[in-house]
Amino acid sequence: MKTYDVIIVGGGPAGSSCAYELVRHGKRVLVVDRHEFPRLKLCAGWITPRVLHLLKLHPEDYPHSILRLNRLHFNVKGRKFALPTRQYSIRRYEFDHWLLQRSRAAFEKHAVRHIQKDGRYYVLDDEFAAPVLVGAGGTNCPVYHQVFAKQFPRNENDRIATFEEEFPYDYHDDRCYLWFFENDLPGYSWYVPKGNGYVNVGIGAKIRLLKERGERLRDHWHHLTQRLEAEGLIRNHSFQDKGHQYFLRQPILRPQRDNAYLIGDAAGLATIDMGEGIGPAIHSGLLAAQSILSGKPYTLKPIARYSAWDLLFWWRWRV
Ligand SMILES: Cc1cc2nc3c(=O)[nH]c(=O)nc-3n(C[C@H](O)[C@H](O)[C@H](O)COP(=O)(O)OP(=O)(O)OC[C@H]3O[C@@H](n4cnc5c(N)ncnc54)[C@H](O)[C@@H]3O)c2cc1C
Repeated sequence: MKTYDVIIVGGGPAGSSCAYELVRHGKRVLVVDRHEFPRLKLCAGWITPRVLHLLKLHPEDYPHSILRLNRLHFNVKGRKFALPTRQYSIRRYEFDHWLLQRSRAAFEKHAVRHIQKDGRYYVLDDEFAAPVLVGAGGTNCPVYHQVFAKQFPRNENDRIATFEEEFPYDYHDDRCYLWFFENDLPGYSWYVPKGNGYVNVGIGAKIRLLKERGERLRDHWHHLTQRLEAEGLIRNHSFQDKGHQYFLRQPILRPQRDNAYLIGDAAGLATIDMGEGIGPAIHSGLLAAQSILSGKPYTLKPIARYSAWDLLFWWRWRV
C-alpha cells in the first residue's frame, strides 16, 4: 500500500491547483487520474483574467499557445453587439498538462473504483491510502458518488449537456462569437479561435428545459454547424462532435465531510450564467488546499457564481 499525506482523485485544473498549493507547503501529494496526460478534455478553453490572477500567471509566461480576445461578439436572439473585454483562450490538452506538471505532485494513472475508510485513512482500491482525500474527478467523480452523494444529492435542474469539437483549422476570423437562445436554445453556442491554428465550436443547454420542450440538443448542434457554414466561419469540415455533461453552481452542496473535500466539477461549481468552470475549479482547489493546511473550514463562498462581472470588470484582475 502506498501512503501519502493527501490523495487527489482527478488531475484537471481543480486537482492540479490543489496539488500545487499543497506540494508548495511540503505535503506529500498523490494525484490519481484514469488518463495519462496530456489528455483530451472537452472544453471551449475560454479563461478569464481572474484565472490568470489565481494562477499568478502572466500570459507571456505561459509556455503554450494563448490567444487574447479583446472583444466578445454576442448574438442574443438575433441582436448583435460586441463587448470590449480582455479574455483568453487556451487548449485544455496543453493547459491541463502544464498545470499538472507545475504541481510537482506524484502521479499515478489509475481509474479509482472503490473508496473505503480504514481508521483515519481513506483507502483507494487497496492500493493507495491517505488521511486526507480530495475529489477532483469531474462530473462522475468517485469521491462524490461514494462519500458525498447520499447526503448531498445534486440538483438535476442544474445539469447541462454539451456537444463540441476542437480541430485544427486555418481560420480567417480570429474573433470569438457567442450565440444566446438561438433557435430558442435554452443555453448558448460558441466559436472560439485558439492561438495555434485550432478552433473550438460547441453548444450547451440545460437538459431539463430541453426535455420539457421535447427537443434534442443534437438538432440544435446541426443548426449551429449549418450557421457556421453559412456565415463562412467554418467551411468544408465534416463535424465529429463529442458530448459531456456537467453541473452549474449548486445552491447547498457541502463540499467537506471529515477529511474529504470536493472541488471543481465534482462539486458542481460552473457559473450560473455561462457555465464557466475552469476558474471555479482552480479557485476551489486553492481554497481546499488552504483549508487542509490551516485546519479552517472549507467554504465555496468566495467562488464566483456568475461570469458576467469578469467580462465587464476584467480590469480588476489585471495581471
Ligand atoms: C463542452 C464544454 C465546454 C466548456 N467550456 C468551458 C470554457 O470555455 N471555460 C470554462 O471555464 N469552462 C468550460 N467548461 C467547463 C470546464 O471544462 C470544467 O468546469 C472544468 O474542466 C472542471 O475542471 P475539473 O478539474 O473540476 O474537472 P476535469 O477537468 O473534468 O478533470 C477531472 C479529471 O478526473 C479524472 N477522473 C474522473 N473519474 C476518475 C476516476 N474514477 N479515477 C481517476 N480519475 C478520474 C478525469 O480523467 C479528469 O482528468 C466547459 C465544459 C464543457 C463540457
